[in-house]
Amino acid sequence: MVIVKRKELTLAERLYLPEILRGLSITLRKMFVKRATRQYPEEPLVTTEVTRGQPRLAVNTDGTVRCVSCGMCEAACPAYAITIDGHETERPIEREPERFEIDMLRCILCGFCEEACPKEAIWMSDELELADYTRGALVYDLEKLKRPVSALQPRIDYIKKINDRWRTSSSTS
Ligand code: SF4
Ligand code: SF4
Repeated sequence: MVIVKRKELTLAERLYLPEILRGLSITLRKMFVKRATRQYPEEPLVTTEVTRGQPRLAVNTDGTVRCVSCGMCEAACPAYAITIDGHETERPIEREPERFEIDMLRCILCGFCEEACPKEAIWMSDELELADYTRGALVYDLEKLKRPVSALQPRIDYIKKINDRWRTSSSTS
């Protein structure tokens, strides 16, 4: 039979005082460290032109949508979130969407639609918040997706700058 001789605990150790003091010192130190958490929604997220929020459709200053209902974004969408039905118009642009829906619950904010669009009609906005009471309300229709070009301009300028950089580097290589 092996007899294990244990160290005799002091009174402080029996009262867990070292652990309590260590815990309190950690709490005290952390109280003065800069907070990493945000008091949302009172402190909303800071967004910039780089923010890839929910996709929105650009509307020209004359009120017409830029979209010509070509379906490129619908085909590029990996989440099958976009549904488009187009119709003919009397305008020189010939086609526009009759139905344009994005299921925001499916959208993964990948930005493929923005990249695929040949008409600069769909852009990733800086809108990130998404909340409603039904799933159906989160399928955004044409009216919910429309935004004036001016509201999307910072993103448009940013993407054009990025694309110009690639054009410059490919022409010099
Ligand atoms: S951001 Fe991506 S997932 Fe969302 S609609 Fe566009 S292509 Fe689809
Ligand atoms: S790719 Fe652009 S123009 Fe074509 S359907 Fe989508 S938003 Fe409209």
